[in-house]
Formats: sequence, C-alpha cells, structure tokens
Amino acid sequence: MSRGVFKARRTVSRRSVLLALGGASLLAACGPDKGAWHAGGELPGDSHSGEVSADPMPSVFPSVAPPTPGQCPPITGAGTPRHGGPQYYLPCKGTQIALTVDDGPDPQYTPHMLALLAKYDIRATFCMIGRSAAAHPDLVKQVVAGGHHIANHTYTHPLNLTKQPAAQIRAELHRASEAISNASGGQPTLFRAPGGAWSDAVLSECGALGMRPLDWSVDPRDWSRPGVQHIVDTILTRTRPGAIILEHDGGGNRDQTVSALTIALPRLLDAGYAFAQP
Ligand SMILES: [Zn+2]
Repeated sequence: MSRGVFKARRTVSRRSVLLALGGASLLAACGPDKGAWHAGGELPGDSHSGEVSADPMPSVFPSVAPPTPGQCPPITGAGTPRHGGPQYYLPCKGTQIALTVDDGPDPQYTPHMLALLAKYDIRATFCMIGRSAAAHPDLVKQVVAGGHHIANHTYTHPLNLTKQPAAQIRAELHRASEAISNASGGQPTLFRAPGGAWSDAVLSECGALGMRPLDWSVDPRDWSRPGVQHIVDTILTRTRPGAIILEHDGGGNRDQTVSALTIALPRLLDAGYAFAQP
C-alpha cells in the first residue's frame, strides 16, 4: 500500500476512534519479537541491557520516594535531539507518573494486568506487538475498554530495529499500526522502540506514521525475572514525578511482574502519586 493511501486511511480510522470514545484521545502500543519468542522462550524485554537471576519472594520494602512537584527532569533525553527525540518523562505536572506495559497482548498475563489496574482505577499504556495484537484481537478490545492507551511496539519486535533497512523499519511500524487498528478501531499515536533502540531512521519513520516516540525512565528489568523484591524496590526508590515506568505483560512468564505491581501500585498511590498517560 502506498504511503498516501495509508495516510488517508489513518485519518478515517482515527476519527472513528474518537467518535467511539466520545472524543477522548486514544491509543499507543508496543511490540516485540526476537527469535526466542517464536520458540516459546523468554522474550528479552525492553530494558536497555542485561540479565538477572530470580530471587525469592520479598520481605521488607523501601519507602516510596516522596513526590516533589515542580522538580521533574527534562522530558526528552540527551543525544537524540533530531526529530524531537523519544520521551523519557511526562511533562512536569503535579505528581503524575505513567505506567507502560510492553510486549503483549498475552492470553495469560494481560487479563491479570487489566484486573489489577481496574482494582486501583489506574490507566496505563500498553505497548503491543503487532502480530500478537493480530492473534488476540479480543484482548486488544479489552485493553481499550479498560480506558488504557495502546502504543505501537513494532510487528515482530526485532532485536535491534536500528540495524534494519529503512524499508523494513517502515514495514514493522506500518504492519503493527494496521494490526492494532484492525483490532481496536483506532490508530496508535505513540511508538516504543524494542529495547529503546532509537536512531534517526526509526524516529523519522515513527514521525512519518504520525506517532510520537516513547521511552521510559524507571526500569526494574522485570522481563528478566530478577525477583519480586528487586522489581518492587526499583519502582519504589526510583519513581519521581514525571517518571515513566516500564513493565511487561508478554514475552514470557510474568508472574513476578504481576506480584510486584500488586505490592507497588497501592504504595505509589498512598504516597500521593497519580497515574497519567504520556
Ligand atoms: Zn518490547
């Protein structure tokens, strides 16, 4: 499909989403794929690097870093000034933070995540893998029905998107948006690069499809299953106003992630943080 045709279609799709949601802005998603995914193994997740071994269940937790409104860090990171650069923090506004959930939708863990978020009335951003969205359209609809945004996270979650030729980058983003649109009725307006692998070419294709690049600022590396204690400790000690927290509901066993958020989310709320969407 030519880009001109795609743009025309996107305009119609976005309008239909806005109508369906009564004018509320919608959509953002994430995607994955790294060989091991096909083999049923662990998806490397979206941390910028590393691997950790599992720990036993947590016992004692640190206190939450207190919100200090008005002291948010810059929204975009250094070193990626062209095309605007990816977003690492929310705009500095009160005590708002964001939760992002990557590499789904997943039949086992996405429902757990949705139930947990509903319990605490939290709206998150699900960064979906396009082919997983295509395989589980009902889960995509459940995420939207929960008031969450969906971001594009590529169609197959390449290990390093920056190593792909421009045409392949474009195809990864385009196919994912198409799959998410088909399942949800709306086009993603956010894009998260797998592993935070950004380049001028990735940012350019992201912008060409009408999406903003979204990164993160708090990463417990939950995908590596480092232990519930480690995930909880990282979230509670590193979260500051404006923080964008990275978690995963797909790509492997996410029992630790669900257990850790069950502990961390109410503590963040009790400390005075409020969840917003990028
Ligand atoms: Zn990912």
